[in-house]
Formats: sequence, structure tokens, C-alpha cells
Amino acid sequence: MSKDIFVLAEQRDGDIQKVSIELIGEAKRLSKSLDEKVVAVLLGSEIKDKASILTAYGADKVIVVEDPILGEYATEPYAKAVCKIIKEYDPEIVLCGATSIGRDLAPRVSARVHTGLTADCTSLDIDEETKLLMMTRPAFGGNIMATIVCDRHKPQMATVRPGVMKSLEKDESKKGEIEYFDIKFTKEDMNIKIREVVKETKEVADITESKVLVSGGRGIGKAEGFKMLKGLADVLGGEISSSRANVDAGWIEKDYQVGQTGKTVKPSLYIAAGISGAIQHIAGMEESDLILAINKDKGAPIFDIADLGIVGDVNTIIPKLKEAIESEKS
Ligand code: FAD
Repeated sequence: MSKDIFVLAEQRDGDIQKVSIELIGEAKRLSKSLDEKVVAVLLGSEIKDKASILTAYGADKVIVVEDPILGEYATEPYAKAVCKIIKEYDPEIVLCGATSIGRDLAPRVSARVHTGLTADCTSLDIDEETKLLMMTRPAFGGNIMATIVCDRHKPQMATVRPGVMKSLEKDESKKGEIEYFDIKFTKEDMNIKIREVVKETKEVADITESKVLVSGGRGIGKAEGFKMLKGLADVLGGEISSSRANVDAGWIEKDYQVGQTGKTVKPSLYIAAGISGAIQHIAGMEESDLILAINKDKGAPIFDIADLGIVGDVNTIIPKLKEAIESEKS
């Protein structure tokens, strides 16, 4: 019988990715309704030392597969390993980050083990009656949130967006079981040749890490408007971010985009400057602790979810806010 919640832990160059830690926290929350264990699956080359990180963040058990072929991510050997583990352990649920790796791996695995996959989920829950996993994601261009169940096949599989779920506090005293799973790889399992791994060198701020975001929408008027927002972000010790409209206009890079097709952020303070509050934007920032909206249209939907609102022109209000904070500091 299927049991336990498996989290496919993602590592890059041996560093466990934050989304995997978040997923272990979420799996732990879900496991309470199912009375099952949380099992992390860690694949890589010379990776076993990292297993204790996963137990410190809440995994009850870690299944480790080590092989030089798993050193750099490649679809075939990773898919083979995960499918073998699923066949061997028969998990109830399998969760994976909706990262570039997760988005490549999870659909292949789900097709091979003949189950469904709900991609890009923004929330998960257990139906108390059926004990099925309820997987929620934006659908129809973000106009509705669809809750999907996979009631005829196991495991129930979902990829989850980074930054959405809450990690547990790290507890180094927490020890879990570590199990090594042996897979015999052959030359044929590697159907590509990795000639070189080229890492992006450009320096961009990680907006998912910032405690304060000053986010600009089309209402900032032009690309230079971000300089004004940066001034405020600097005095608040934060970063700038953007709606998609400005990314599409070429005013700022995609790395700064918040929303359904951008990043999900949860800062302590999110200032939405000249952003209307389209559902696709809100999907990426509504979990922020405090939302301050500045918009010249008092009927803008952003005010419906804002904790504080200022009706007015961003070009007047942002410099005034900056000035007031600076004089408060001095
Ligand atoms: P607008 O909707 O044009 O709003 C501008 C706002 O600025 C208005 O409310 C206006 O009153 C106000 N304003 C104008 N001038 C001033 C001023 N001087 N002072 C103060 N206020 C002013 N959008 C995202 O942001 N992120 C996503 O990830 C995303 N994904 C999408 C995915 C899909 C499949 C689709 C279909 C759309 C997606 N969108 C996304 C686009 C989204 O629907 C909106 O079009 C977009 O968010 C609008 O951006 P905006 O609020 O900056 O612009």
C-alpha cells in the first residue's frame, strides 16, 4: 500500500536548494493529516554529507543515491533513479520544486510511473474525508485557481513554486534515518554529453530573499522610474521589483518580475507603486506581511488586498516617503 510523502531534494553543486527545504516543511504539515513519514530523496555524486541538512529541517528519513553519473543534472539518469525509488517504496505523494530541473524531471517521472502530475502548485492540502492531496494552481491564464486531485493513480505528484511554502526552523539535534539506495547505472543511461557548464555571471538581486521590496508597475511611467524606487529601497534596506508590464516593456530584467510567471515573494514590507493589482501579479506577492499600495486610481484592485493605501501620484509620494524616512533616521 502506498505510504509516506517523498520530497525530491534538489541540489546544485552540492548545495541543497531552498525550495526543497520549504517542501520538507510543507510535507511535514501535510503528514500530520495522513500520519505518515516525510522522506527526502537526495541524488548526486559524493552527496551523502548533505543528508543531515534535510533531517535537520524535518525529514524523517533520507534516501541517498550516489553515483558520479548524477554529478551534474541530466534527465535520463535522474529520471531512472527516481522511477526506481518510486517503484521500490511506493510513496503516497511525491513533491518536487517547480524549478528548471523539477519542471524537466517531474513530468518524465510521472509519465513513466503512469500517474498524474499537477505542475506549478501554489498551495497543497489534504482532503480530510478522502485523504487525497488537493493541489491548487492558477489556471486559464491565472483567472481562476484550480484545485486538482489525482484519485486513481499513485503517487500523487506535484511540483511547487519556490518561495511559496514555509520552511521549518533548522534543528541540528534532529536526526533521521539515512538509507543508501544502490542503482546500477550503465553507459546507456547517459544519452547526452555535458561538454561544459556555463554559469551566468550577471549580478542580479534575489528578490525572494529581500525583506523589503519597492515594486514598480506601469504607473511609474518610464524605465528611469526604477531609479526613484531604488532610492526608496536603499533607505529601507530593500530591493526593487516589478510587475510584468515593465518587464515586457523592456524597462527591467525578468529576474525582478513578481507574479504568476515571475517570482513569488513574501517580504515583511511590499510597496506596490503604480501597480493595478492584476490577479497574476497578486499571486506572487499576496503573502507579504505588510502591503502598501500607491496608486492614483482609488478603485485599483491592488487596494483590495493592501494593508495600507495611498491614493496619489507615485512621482510625488515616493520622493516624499524617502525624504521622511531619511529625516526620521538622522
Ligand atoms: P497596469 O495594469 O497598466 O496598471 C498600472 C497602474 O498604475 C494603474 O492602476 C494606474 O492607475 C496606476 N498609475 C498610473 N500612473 C500612475 C501614477 N503616476 N501614480 C500612481 N499610480 C499610477 N503580471 C505580473 O505583474 N506578473 C506576472 O507574473 C504576470 N503573469 C501573467 C501571466 C499571464 C498568463 C497573463 C495573461 C498575464 C500575466 N501578467 C502578469 C500580466 C497582468 O495581467 C497585468 O497585465 C500586469 O500585472 C499589469 O501590470 P501593471 O499593474 O504594472 O500595469
